[in-house]
Amino acid sequence: MGRAFVYVILGGGVAAGYAALEFSKRGVPPGELCIISEEPVPPYERPALSKGFLLPEAPARLPSFHTCVGANEERLTPKWYKEHGIELVLNTRVKSADVRRKTLITATGETISFKILIIATGARALKLEEFGVEGSNAENVCYLRDLNDATRLVEVMQSRMAGNAVVIGGGYIGMECAASLVINGLKVTMVFPEAHCMARLFTPKIAEFYESYYEAKGVRFVKGNVLTSFENDSEGKIKGVILKDGTRLPADLVVVGIGIRPNTELFGGQLTLEKGGIKVNARMQTPSNASIYAIGDVATFPVKLFGSNRRLEHVDSARRSARHAVSAILSPDKTGEFDYLPFFYSRVFALSWQFYGDNVGEVAHFGDFAGGRFGAYWVDKGRLVGSFYEGGNREEYVVIAEATRVRPEVADLDELGRLGLEFAFRFARKEDPLPPPEVVAPVNASQGGDTSSVVVAGRPVYGWHASAGVLVAASIAGFAYWYGWRRRRW
Ligand SMILES: Cc1cc2nc3c(=O)[nH]c(=O)nc-3n(C[C@H](O)[C@H](O)[C@H](O)COP(=O)(O)OP(=O)(O)OC[C@H]3O[C@@H](n4cnc5c(N)ncnc54)[C@H](O)[C@@H]3O)c2cc1C
Repeated sequence: MGRAFVYVILGGGVAAGYAALEFSKRGVPPGELCIISEEPVPPYERPALSKGFLLPEAPARLPSFHTCVGANEERLTPKWYKEHGIELVLNTRVKSADVRRKTLITATGETISFKILIIATGARALKLEEFGVEGSNAENVCYLRDLNDATRLVEVMQSRMAGNAVVIGGGYIGMECAASLVINGLKVTMVFPEAHCMARLFTPKIAEFYESYYEAKGVRFVKGNVLTSFENDSEGKIKGVILKDGTRLPADLVVVGIGIRPNTELFGGQLTLEKGGIKVNARMQTPSNASIYAIGDVATFPVKLFGSNRRLEHVDSARRSARHAVSAILSPDKTGEFDYLPFFYSRVFALSWQFYGDNVGEVAHFGDFAGGRFGAYWVDKGRLVGSFYEGGNREEYVVIAEATRVRPEVADLDELGRLGLEFAFRFARKEDPLPPPEVVAPVNASQGGDTSSVVVAGRPVYGWHASAGVLVAASIAGFAYWYGWRRRRW
């Protein structure tokens, strides 16, 4: 038994959905494209699972958050795929791949062959067992990666109202789940080995703000500690977690968010792996096989801005890499190199932040931490490389994205911190071919000051590149703000 397609997308997550829309926009003929996914539903906006999906009132449910509503584009329902002649092979796990023969074999034994393969297998949640802790299979231990996980988490949460929840892991999944658990009326303790939450991104000062906010909502933090075992009841359910220092925490529900692992196994020994992902070039194409592309969380691609290859685990990267790959496949002569400004966001309780670029080098904090409108700039080798802002408006996110994209030189970190958003605004006004932003930065506006020692050489060598970059950054930030504003529940 077998089927053959010109294009096969392996994986049915965010990147697959955006790739499908791009194929359709570019007029792929009916019957040529197929998506194979282990999941039972067509691609959806995965970030909804830790936000609107977990709300106790009017929760987000499919079909409302199928891709590509997150980018204010068409909602691709099963009907849409049918109408566009795109074959959805759902509930189907691919168990082996032969890139030389251009075939995939599913768990049911079907062979699906392709001319062009787009690998969009994303990543899976790391299990406790990988760290030597048994117990993931207990009824009240939850992970959160896909719709099944989210549905299960809601069921367990609703059966433990007012109970004790322990969240293992202080990353964004842990933080977003903890907020949702509190909103659902559970008493939450977060346990993680680092000195503060979101340790891969937040500085201690930024983390302190969120931790205080969470504590005011009743969340307890146990830092510098790890789970070593569970305590079970007679039915095998977890009733307590035991930490490395011997502490016992009562638990009616445990949510584990300890990281992810890219799904690359099918291609081990066939394609080049780098930084945990499938290595691709700036067209999202594997260097060793021109018929194979990789996109989204599973792809390690050149981030021009950083001059290095990165594997990103962010929804915006999945969407944009997907579109770029399809463009490179269908319009090779008109498609340049993927030139991406990394962008990541999160929303918890009434808070909302965005981050652009890279968090390496020295940090300058700015803004009103007490008032919940603050940020940070990262400066590496004398240049601005990353920007974070909490509580911003559209213009503010646009300008920090612009500034990060252009990478201005920074001579004085203290002054950068004093200027805060004004740095990005002044820079944007100097460099930006767009009309000046309508809103003048409220932060530090009264502080005035001379920026000349901060921006030593604002305009980059390649002026055209900066201008294009500004436009791209502005569109990313504009979308990001729109997404945050319009889709608060996701
Ligand atoms: C709960 C949650 C909240 C998030 N929130 C945010 C956020 O706020 N901001 C942000 O920037 N990012 C967020 N992310 C990250 C973002 O969702 C991911 O970066 C994005 O989903 C990556 O898209 P992808 O298509 O590469 O992978 P995925 O969306 O994971 O899709 C991979 C697909 O491949 C399928 N698959 C894998 N292996 C096989 C196989 N062998 N056979 C068949 N099918 C297979 C999977 O079942 C899945 O359908 C969040 C992620 C999660 C889990």
